[in-house]
Amino acid sequence: MKNKKCKYIFVTGGVLSGVGKGITAASIGAILKAKGYKVTMQKCDPYLNVDAGLLNPVEHGECYVTHDGVETDLDLGHYDRFLDFETSKYSITLSGSIYKELIERERSGGFRGKTVQLVPHFTGLVCEKIEKASVDSDIHIVEIGGTIGDYEGLPFVEAIRLFANKVGRRNCLYASVVYVPFIHTSNELKTKPAQNALKDLRGFGIIPDIVCVRTEKPCPRGICEKIAAFSGIAPEAVVNLPDIQSVYDVPFNVLKSGVLTILNDFVGNESEPDMRRWAEFSRRRAKKYAKTVKIGLVAKYVGNDDTYMCVTEALKAAAAWDKVNLNLKWVNAEEVENNVGLLKGLDGIVVPGGFGVRGVEGKIKAAEYALKHDVPYLGLCLGMQVACIAAARKGGVKNANSEEFGASEEDGNNVIYIMEGQKGKESTGGTMRLGDYTAVLKPKSKVAKIYRKALETSEYAYGTEVLEDGGLKVIERHRHRYEVNQKYLDVIREGGVEVSGLSPNGKLVEFIEAPSCRFFVATQAHPEFKSRPLHPHPLFREFLAKAGQAK
Ligand code: GLN
Repeated sequence: MKNKKCKYIFVTGGVLSGVGKGITAASIGAILKAKGYKVTMQKCDPYLNVDAGLLNPVEHGECYVTHDGVETDLDLGHYDRFLDFETSKYSITLSGSIYKELIERERSGGFRGKTVQLVPHFTGLVCEKIEKASVDSDIHIVEIGGTIGDYEGLPFVEAIRLFANKVGRRNCLYASVVYVPFIHTSNELKTKPAQNALKDLRGFGIIPDIVCVRTEKPCPRGICEKIAAFSGIAPEAVVNLPDIQSVYDVPFNVLKSGVLTILNDFVGNESEPDMRRWAEFSRRRAKKYAKTVKIGLVAKYVGNDDTYMCVTEALKAAAAWDKVNLNLKWVNAEEVENNVGLLKGLDGIVVPGGFGVRGVEGKIKAAEYALKHDVPYLGLCLGMQVACIAAARKGGVKNANSEEFGASEEDGNNVIYIMEGQKGKESTGGTMRLGDYTAVLKPKSKVAKIYRKALETSEYAYGTEVLEDGGLKVIERHRHRYEVNQKYLDVIREGGVEVSGLSPNGKLVEFIEAPSCRFFVATQAHPEFKSRPLHPHPLFREFLAKAGQAK
């Protein structure tokens, strides 16, 4: 299990949470990857939840799913986007999962009569998880959630301190991200909270090798020097990372800050990171283009980017690479229910994933509208289910619906029904169809053409394979409990929508499309989870391209 060649970077935060610790960690990862290293990342979160599947998306942001089917928080999505790779179940360690494992081991007699304690058992298991997550990597980055000093985070801080004893201090780099507020009334930056945070960290036995000072605006060098002097850290190890417009420019900010010299010393390699594709992305994103596409995101939770993070990021990346300005309009699904006029003037409609009945009629109306008026439509998971419902209603089953929203076999309207083995598990954690699954696309379908084009231009592969009959095998991430009831496929076809991809055993509908529309494509999967800023997902690209074309 031990990976002797791996080096470890631990990122903690001080003063407050939400100042960009995850983005800083991911940016360091992106830079090291651009130097040619195999980098992996892991988030240790002090919540007592076992995973993020049951967390409220409004409070916590979107639930991200790893390829091997673990429901995590959105930070792992950032890691995947910044490193252009795929995190796994080993990339997330929540306190709840550690306690669960320890208690299960204790109950089954695994501790042979020993007292089970935070130290060494909790900390020891965290160290094991870090080692497991870093197998095969050159550099493994671990972000500790929360803020230094939080009660619940202490065992993790102790674990990462201990970890240096296991692998050698020279193989560990500790980075602390602290916030320095600007007090407008006295017109000055205040370093005291940062000093205190670093004092706390020192109290736990960790003197950081890098301190990233987050500020609203670039701060005078003297501020960093002051923090260094009061915290016993070399002045060159304290760098400023002011706010910038886009998170994707943070790697450049980190490079400018002088962190590279410290990273180079740590890994013993002076080579320049190859940031060309990042620079190209940054350039394209900052530019204003002649064409603007107005996309409506018809959703239940509106106005909060975090709740649909991967969807908005996938749209933004596709827009940048395809040289259009994205005008994203949040459309409240509940309001659409009584006023489809809200959809007027949109160049394209996205219905993202979702759970629960609130707003669903509005989403069905949005799909109906797109189908009727040939407005490019991209349906993601629930977005596919509502598209099938809309088509079935048009095809004759007037009260078509999902069992999730009260439809039933007896009423003859369960166009969407619960998957085998999912009954009774509706409010339990980790029980959905989760993670990567293969779909087989029909040879002549639009989706097959889209994926194929992306494969041939090698812009996007992620497991796509061409089959002998010209069809395609694609792999996408899933998170759902309900599926299309194939009994209704004729009615759905009558309504103008056809199946274009199924699971390999033919049991589950994975992709649909409306042949008569320019782009009316939906999938039971979440392709947004596989879109990357440097390699945007082909479905999002094609959707925007069609949205940008005049009818
Ligand atoms: N609620 C639907 C289901 O469970 C859709 C899920 C989703 O959109 N992620 O099948």
